[in-house]
Amino acid sequence: MSMLNTLAVAGGGIGGLATALALGQTGVRLNVYEQADAFTETGAGIGLGPNAMRVLDQWGLSSELRSTGCIPEYLQSRRADDGRIAGRLPMGQSYIEKYGAPYLTVHRADLHQILLEAVKKQAVTELFLNHTLMAIDVRSQDIDLKFQEINESHQTMALVGADGLHSRVRTSILGADEPVSSGHWAYRALLPMHSLPQTIQESHIGIWMGKRLHVVHYPVRGGEFLNIVVLVETTGHQSQAGWDVLRSTEQINADLKQVLQGCCNELQALINRVENWRAWCLFDRPPLQRATQMARGRVALLGDAAHPMLPYLAQGAGMAIEDAACLAVQWQRIDLPVEQRFLNYAQARWQRVSRVQQRARRNGTIFHADGWLRLARDTALALGGSYMIDLPWLYAG
Ligand SMILES: Cc1cc2nc3c(=O)[nH]c(=O)nc-3n(C[C@H](O)[C@H](O)[C@H](O)COP(=O)(O)OP(=O)(O)OC[C@H]3O[C@@H](n4cnc5c(N)ncnc54)[C@H](O)[C@@H]3O)c2cc1C
Repeated sequence: MSMLNTLAVAGGGIGGLATALALGQTGVRLNVYEQADAFTETGAGIGLGPNAMRVLDQWGLSSELRSTGCIPEYLQSRRADDGRIAGRLPMGQSYIEKYGAPYLTVHRADLHQILLEAVKKQAVTELFLNHTLMAIDVRSQDIDLKFQEINESHQTMALVGADGLHSRVRTSILGADEPVSSGHWAYRALLPMHSLPQTIQESHIGIWMGKRLHVVHYPVRGGEFLNIVVLVETTGHQSQAGWDVLRSTEQINADLKQVLQGCCNELQALINRVENWRAWCLFDRPPLQRATQMARGRVALLGDAAHPMLPYLAQGAGMAIEDAACLAVQWQRIDLPVEQRFLNYAQARWQRVSRVQQRARRNGTIFHADGWLRLARDTALALGGSYMIDLPWLYAG
């Protein structure tokens, strides 16, 4: 199938759909190839900073996002061992005034669905399920795409790899380089909000910081559920990145019981309410060092395919959304060759994304600190050190 006037996107996750929406809104013909047999998102909640929300607002998704998401009033950090409040940062209206958009918490399936519905309304976008991209042949005039178990080959003028952490598109342009296992695990769950203590039900993001672990919770689905994530450093069990299908709920509960031994009763009681956890092994890559790690010729990378990061700044999806907006702007330079447009996109993006990747790693060290670093952190938070969490270079950038 020859589609030389179209752009191809590999991957229909948040990054791929954001790309389809951003480019589609400027009239670009685009095909999205997703390996799964349905467009879905696994996982629970996601936090979207004002930087990502401003983009989503511009794409016309404000009302849908606000009706299913939540705008927490404040962020409260507490010590996991004794429950003491370390600091409180106003968010809600104060973020809207400061950054022109709220900090929003949303179920990731809801965000994905909102993007999907918007993309489906675009006549210029075609969506292909069950299309696992296997090989890419970059020729002088086009790029030939080959799919697993499908006797079709598609030609496209340019390709965007939004195919996630183990991106095949990335391997084809940068060579094989494995993502880095952090040895950290995320245990995620949803709890019905009505059953929880009033202090937890308040509209806020809660962060509990302990030795080699932290816990984050916030409301999703209009406040109907609490999204809760326990993030721990372990040295034992390793896995591929992704849901750990090998461990039973009993094993996960036993792991968590051990890890949370030194935590206060209030936190343990909250954690013990969860019956079904899902465990996720966390991977990232070293921060980007140059633009050519995001684009080569007529192939560009976007989202986790380009710059996977630890979730400790809650910006992986946010950066994918920003990437998509930037790519759409650069793609409109039709006076330039495709190669130059992609390179301009990469040049505009790599330094910011690299800084976010670095900061995400650093946040892990700060959140999980012990000894003098923990003392410094708690002192800074007690003195109103909101600069540790409220980052104008990120949210206003
Ligand atoms: C525990 C945790 C918490 C997080 N919290 C936040 C948060 O609060 N805020 C935030 O902004 N980010 C957060 N993130 C990060 C965020 O989830 C990711 O950065 C984001 O989902 C990446 O989107 P993506 O589209 O680039 O990749 P993916 O979501 O991985 O999507 C890739 C898509 O490509 C498809 N695919 C893969 N290979 C192929 C192929 N060969 N052919 C065709 N299709 C293919 C996959 O099926 C998938 O649909 C968190 C991540 C984790 C693990």
